[in-house]
Parts: sequence; C-alpha cells; structure tokens
Amino acid sequence: MDALNYRIGLGNDVHRLAENRRLILGGVDIPYERGLVGHSDADVLLHALIDALLGATGQGDIGEWFPNSDVRYAGCDSADLLREVLGAVAEAGWRIINLDCIVSAESPRLGPFKPLIRQRLSELLQLDRERINVKAKSGEQVGPIGRGEAVSAEVVVLLYREQLG
Ligand code: MG
Repeated sequence: MDALNYRIGLGNDVHRLAENRRLILGGVDIPYERGLVGHSDADVLLHALIDALLGATGQGDIGEWFPNSDVRYAGCDSADLLREVLGAVAEAGWRIINLDCIVSAESPRLGPFKPLIRQRLSELLQLDRERINVKAKSGEQVGPIGRGEAVSAEVVVLLYREQLG
C-alpha cells in the first residue's frame, strides 16, 4: 500500500463592517443591516479557507492568486475563487481530510447560521459535513471585532495525498 503524505494549512482574514454591503460568510448570505467591505464579496471565511488550502499545498496566498488591484475580481463571488484553488489542489493530488473554522463577530450572532454555513462548505468542497466544523465566537466587546467594526475568520485544514514516486 502506498504511503500517505499529510499537510496542514492555516488561513485567517478580517474585513470591516459597513452599511450598504451584503454580509456573506462561508458562501451564505446572512441577513444583517451591515456587510463586509472588500474588493470581492469580502467573504472572510472563504478567504481564510483559500489561504489554508494554499498554505497546505505550498502555493502562496490569496493575494498572489487574486490581487485586489485586478478589476476581474471586483465584487466577485469568493466561491468562484475557492473553486479555482480547489482545482489546483486536486490537480496536485491533494484531498481534504478535515477542516476547522472559527468566525468571530460581535453582531450578528452567528450561532443560528452555523449549520447553514457548514452545509454550504460541504457543497463547495464536496466533503462530508462531519469533516467540517464551524465555530462562532463573539468579540467579547473588546477590540475591533468586539466593537462590531469587523468580522474575522480562521481556518485550519488537513490534506493528504498518496506518496509520489
Ligand atoms: Mg479577504
């Protein structure tokens, strides 16, 4: 039996909350009076996931892949960016074992949305839900998250592939 290679990857991201923007987290549209500001749809969770995948496979970071100076990515759906990265990850032979995610927001409270986000990630990644964990935390009223100025996300992912050669 072939030996397996394992790689771990870590990603994080933060975006500012402002009025007249949609709040999209993990590909799920969250009803709220404010949304995240960014060049793309500013989905912090998908951006952190993309960086975790790129990190695990040694392929740089999201800024190198999708520069925010590039008009092609203005207002883009981060799910499309994730699909592109997933293609490169799969092409290199890597498969996901599991991922663990944290989204931090003082408001809205994200607890009720965790199952929806988990389901959406499962669809986007073509991965069983039990391999995906989503945690929601508040900012404890401290710092930019706690003051409701921003939302942040962290993702850690474990990948494997059969030993080459
Ligand atoms: Mg980002």
